[in-house]
Formats: sequence, structure tokens, C-alpha cells
Amino acid sequence: MKGKIIICGAGLVGSLLSIILRKRGYTVDIHEKRDDLRRGNIGGGRSINLALSNRGLNALDIIGLKEIALQLVVPMHGRMIHQPNGDCELQRYGDEGQVINSISREKLNKLLLNEAEKQGVSIHFNSKIESCNLTSTDLNTSNQEGKQSADNADIIIGADGAFSAIRQSMEGYGKVATTKEDLGHSYKELTIGAKIDDFAIYPNALHIWPRHHLMLIALPNIDKTFTCTLFLPNTGADSFESFSKSGSILNFFEQHFSDVPPLISDLIDQFNQNPTCSLSTIKTYPWKAGDFLLIGDAAHAIVPFYGQGMNAGFEDCFVLNQLLDQKDDNWQEVMPLFQESRKKNTDAIATLALQNFIEMRDKVADPDFVRRKALEKELHKQFGNRWLPLYSMVTFSDMPYSEALERGKVQDEILTNFNTDKIGFTEILNLYEHRCSELKL
Ligand SMILES: Cc1cc2nc3c(=O)[nH]c(=O)nc-3n(C[C@H](O)[C@H](O)[C@H](O)COP(=O)(O)OP(=O)(O)OC[C@H]3O[C@@H](n4cnc5c(N)ncnc54)[C@H](O)[C@@H]3O)c2cc1C
Repeated sequence: MKGKIIICGAGLVGSLLSIILRKRGYTVDIHEKRDDLRRGNIGGGRSINLALSNRGLNALDIIGLKEIALQLVVPMHGRMIHQPNGDCELQRYGDEGQVINSISREKLNKLLLNEAEKQGVSIHFNSKIESCNLTSTDLNTSNQEGKQSADNADIIIGADGAFSAIRQSMEGYGKVATTKEDLGHSYKELTIGAKIDDFAIYPNALHIWPRHHLMLIALPNIDKTFTCTLFLPNTGADSFESFSKSGSILNFFEQHFSDVPPLISDLIDQFNQNPTCSLSTIKTYPWKAGDFLLIGDAAHAIVPFYGQGMNAGFEDCFVLNQLLDQKDDNWQEVMPLFQESRKKNTDAIATLALQNFIEMRDKVADPDFVRRKALEKELHKQFGNRWLPLYSMVTFSDMPYSEALERGKVQDEILTNFNTDKIGFTEILNLYEHRCSELKL
């Protein structure tokens, strides 16, 4: 038997990682501050459903849960754009058969917790990390009644999310530097109910109502409901702040999203009752201090517009597992390699997620954008993987996010400066490949 590892946080990343490490032969304990979600409510404040794609599925595959997870999803082939006049248009994400998968956060987390316990992971619920001692690898925890306990392990992993207590302890020791950049927009979730045992709108798409400074999206659930997320500025006109002043919720929806009120009969109640949550990008480095390591949102929390936060956290677990294989479980070698290889990639997906906010709210309804997407599709059709559109590199491939970001910049530069009236598709491809090879991509 190998040593003992403590994971802080039984969210999506912590519970997945616990299974990987248990299967490698470690004794694994998890401390989770909340109740066991299998016995109660998951609690507000995070998205109800998530888009699960290639990188996340790869990690689920190594613990044998990919196919089971895929039974819990509604596949989405593309974006359904809702224009202000009510017209809708489906824009496919990738090739025929390439989909992103809408999955319930709660169902996925339950699946992972069940498997973790089946593999012999000890999960301590209602056990909140209060502080840790970086030199002795000790942890202090408290339960709901305030009773204090201590625990100790060879390695302690902080998978305790964007507001990580482990990261804050590391900061307290002066071991890591963290930045937090607020988006200036917040979000609120709303639910479109099922229509007499059917979906009220087309099920196999991610619906977007792009309205420049405002945006509404909706992802389908297997119970035939949709979870909508409304993104608004924090201040100024049409902000969450302006609603609390005017209370004109219905007017607002009729003005900007006129096809939505008929789909949500209790729109005003939901709007008033559901929490408004902020969005930010959190970066920190290093991720390792002594025998402590950060992973998932604790190390890199991003805005949700590429649907990659969980997928990136799952990819962290995939890469960590690969490095443990390569280095014979020598954690002192693995931890520095892990943070180095992941940091540039999680910084890249943070940038891409912010860029995609602009794309989703401003560009998807723009005829120029649609023309450019068609051109990229044609390049991909003619040349296959030699021209892979940026969305496909991020969502349907294993290419490092940092490489996808750089290749995306080259594509953007070429498509902005050249058009097919002047040069042919082959010349565009040649330019792209030449530039990528200059950049050693
Ligand atoms: C609106 C929205 C939509 C999103 N959509 C997508 C999407 O479509 N696709 C995608 O891939 N990602 C998406 N994400 C991102 C995704 O939710 C996160 O990246 C993912 O949840 C990170 O998982 P995690 O396990 O690292 O952190 P978390 O899910 O935050 O889990 C952390 C766990 O640690 C526990 N914890 C916290 N503090 C302590 C403590 N002191 N002691 C003990 N336990 C503690 C928490 O209770 C929690 O269970 C979205 C995020 C938001 C906000």
C-alpha cells in the first residue's frame, strides 16, 4: 500500500481525483465542508448543468465512468441563435456527430461520489478545512457544531474550488501569489419547464440570445427542462442593480428576450428568488508548496463562456495521472512538472473563455461572423485536421489549450487580412502552416 493522501473538497474535481488515486493504491481521505449531496440539496450558487466535452470525457474514461456518464447527458450539436425578431438559426459546433454534452452537476457529482466510496475512499462530509500547516502537512477542520479536528497525510491536495481554503493558507505563508479579476457581469439561473412531457424548445442545442451587453443562454436537462443563465452587467443600464431599483423584470424580458416570458410562467418569482452570482478569473502560482498541491478551480477559476472550467479540472487529473505513471509515483518530481505543464494551458483557457464571452454575446448573430465560420468550415472540409477551427481545437481535441490559443490567433490574423476572392483555399492553408511552423506550433 502506498501512502495517505488527503483531498480537500468533494466537488467534481476532488471526487474524480480521489478515484484515480485510490486506483493507484493510495489511502485516500476527502474532507468536504458541505453535507453529502446524495442526501439533500446541492445548494445554490453554482450552475445546475454543465457542458461536458472531450477533455472531461478522457478523464472519466480512465476510471471507467465515461460510458455511464454519457447515459446522463443531452447531446448538443450546436448553438441555436435566437434573434431579437424571434428568428432562430442553428450553427453546428463541429463535424457531423461532434457534440457537447449537457449534464446535471448533481448527477455527475453523485456518480463520482458513489464510485469513490465503492473504491474505498473515506469521505468526511461537514468537515470544513480551517487552516493547514505547510511544514508538518497537518490540517485543521471543523464540523457544523464547531467541533475542531486534525488530520495528517503524506500529500494534501486542495480541490476546494475558487475560494480555496488551502490556497488561502498557502497565501498566508507567502508561498503563492493570486490575482482575481472580476468580469463586471453577474449571472442568475432560471428554469424553462417541460411542455406536457416534451422539451419546450429544440433540445439538442445550446440556446443563445445574444444581445451585446446582455446575454441569455439555455442548456437542456434530461427531465426535459432547460436551465437558463442570464448574464447582465453589475451596474448601469440593464444591470442587476437597475432591476432592484425599477423592478420592471417583465418589461425587460419583453424588450430584449420577447420569446422567453411565454416559456417561463413564474418568471418574476424565479427572478426574485434565485441568487445573483458574480463571475471572475482567478489565477495563482505556484500550485505546489511543500507537500500541498492545488488542482481544479482552486488553482485556476475561469469565466464559464467556453464551457471548459470542469473539463480543464478533469484534464488536470488526467495529466497528473500520466505524470505519476511516468515518474513511478515520485511526487517530488511530479508536482513541479504538473504545475509547469498545466499553468500555461489553464492561463490560455482563461483567456479563451473571456474571448468567447465577446463572441457569444456580440458576434454569433453578426453576418460577417457567420460568413467567416462558413469559410473555416470549408477549409476544414477541404483539409481536415490541417485546418481545425478554434472551437474544435478547444472542445473536440486534446491539443494543449496554449497551442489552440496561438493557432487561433494565427487563423484570425489570416482570415482578417486575406479573403478567398483574392487568394485560394490552398494558399490560405499554406500561409497558416508556414506561420505555425515559424511559431513552432
Ligand atoms: C455558471 C457556471 C457555468 C459553468 N458551466 C460549465 C460548463 O458548461 N462546463 C465546464 O466544464 N465548466 C463549467 N463551469 C465551471 C465548473 O463549474 C467548475 O470549473 C468546476 O465546478 C470546478 O470543480 P472543482 O471541483 O475544482 O470546484 P468546485 O466544484 O467548486 O468544488 C469544490 C468543493 O470544495 C468544497 N469546499 C470549499 N471550501 C472548502 C473547505 N474550506 N473545506 C472543505 N471543503 C470545501 C466545496 O463545498 C465543493 O464541494 C461553470 C461554472 C459556472 C459558475
